[in-house]
Amino acid sequence: MAEFALILNAGSSSLKFFICKRLLGQPWELESRGQIDGIGTAPHLKAKDASGSSIADIDLPASVQDGSNAIEALAGWLRENYGGSSVVAVGHRVVHGGPHFPTPVVITPEVMDNLRRLIPLAPLHQPYNLAAIEAVAERIPGIPQVACFDTSFHRGQSAVAELVPLPAHIRQAGVQRYGFHGLSYEYIASVLPEIAPSIAPGRVIVAHLGSGASLCALRNGKSVDSTLGFTALDGLCMGTRPGSLDPGVVLYLFQQLGLSASEVEAILYKKSGLLGISGVSNDMRDLLPSDAPAARIAVDYFVYQCAKHIGALAATLGGIDALVFTAGIGENSPEIRRRICQASAWLGIQFDAAANESRQALISTPGSPVSAWVIPTNEEIMIARHTGRLLGLAGNL
Ligand code: ADP
Repeated sequence: MAEFALILNAGSSSLKFFICKRLLGQPWELESRGQIDGIGTAPHLKAKDASGSSIADIDLPASVQDGSNAIEALAGWLRENYGGSSVVAVGHRVVHGGPHFPTPVVITPEVMDNLRRLIPLAPLHQPYNLAAIEAVAERIPGIPQVACFDTSFHRGQSAVAELVPLPAHIRQAGVQRYGFHGLSYEYIASVLPEIAPSIAPGRVIVAHLGSGASLCALRNGKSVDSTLGFTALDGLCMGTRPGSLDPGVVLYLFQQLGLSASEVEAILYKKSGLLGISGVSNDMRDLLPSDAPAARIAVDYFVYQCAKHIGALAATLGGIDALVFTAGIGENSPEIRRRICQASAWLGIQFDAAANESRQALISTPGSPVSAWVIPTNEEIMIARHTGRLLGLAGNL
C-alpha cells in the first residue's frame, strides 16, 4: 500500500498543495501538485501529475468560503483519487518563525501558541497558514505536522544585517530584521550547484518577484542580507504592499489623518504597492499592457526599486557574480527582466535579449562578466524535504 505526505501552502484565497507518495521500500516521489484558487469567490481546484499533465480542473461549490472549507474540499478530492491510502505526514509553509524558531519544527500546542503571537507581524499570511494546521489536526487527529518558516533561511546573517536600530528594550522584544521568502531562496541555493556551478560558491542576488517581492544576497549559498525585514512590508514595491517607506509617513497617517491601527494595516498590506500606485490592479499582467499613465508609473516604480535595491545588496556583497530571477513575475515576464537587467548593466550584466525572450535559463551573453539567470522556484519541495528530514521519513525526497 502507498503512503502519502501532504505539503500545504495556505494563503488568504488560495491553498497550494503538493502530494508525495512512497511505495513500500521505494523512495518518496512527487505524485501530484495543484491549488485551490478563488476561496470565498469562485473556488476552483486544479492539479497536475508529476509529468505536468492536468489531472483535475474542477469548479468547487460556492460553499468553499474559507481555508477550513478548502482543506475539506481537498480531502474529498484526495479520497476520490487516492482513497484507501494513508497520509503519514503534513508539512506547511508558515511565513513567520519569529525569534524562537530558527529552523523547521514539529507542531505541538505550545508551538501553535507561539506562532499565533506572530500573527500581527504577518497578517496577510500567518493566520491562513495556522488555520490550515488546525483544520488538518481536526480532520486527522494525531497526524505529525511540520511548520517550515520563510524566515529560517536568513538566520545566521551578520549582527548589522539583522539589526533594527531602535532602543534596546524594543529590540529585546524580538524587533529585528528576519527576512522572508526563505523557502524559495533555499531552493534556489540548493539547485545552483547543478544549474550554474560556476556561480554557486560566489556572490549572487536572487530576485523573488511575485505578488510579494524581495531580493536576497547569497554568498556561497548562504543568505547574507535581504530586502524584507521585521515584517513582509520592507524593500521592493509589491502587489499591494509599498516596500521601503519613510516611517514618518506611518506617523502622519496616525497623527494627522487620524487613521486607526486597522486602517493603517489595511493600507500597508492590501491597498498600496502596484495597486495603490496604479489604482487599477496589483497584477503585473494587467499593468504591463496598459497605456494608463498611473499603470505605467506603477511598473516604472517597481523596476526602479528593484534596480536600486540590487545596487544596495551588491554593495553588501562587494560586487556580484550573478543575478537570478524567480517567482511569478521573475519567471514569466521577459519585459520586467529586461528592464531590470538593463538598469543593472553598470554591474557588468551583458543582457541577451534573444535568450530572455526565448525563455532560456541563462539570459546574459556567454562572455558577460556578471551572468543573469531565470530559475523557477519550488518552495513546496523544500517543505517536503524539511518535513521528511524532521520526521525521519526514510527515502526522503
Ligand atoms: P504568490 O505565490 O506570492 O502569489 P507568485 O510567485 O505566484 O506569487 O506570483 C504571482 C504574480 O506573478 C501575479 O500577481 C502576477 O503579477 C505575476 N505574473 C504571473 N505571470 C506573469 C506574466 N506572464 N507576466 C507578468 N507577471 C506575471
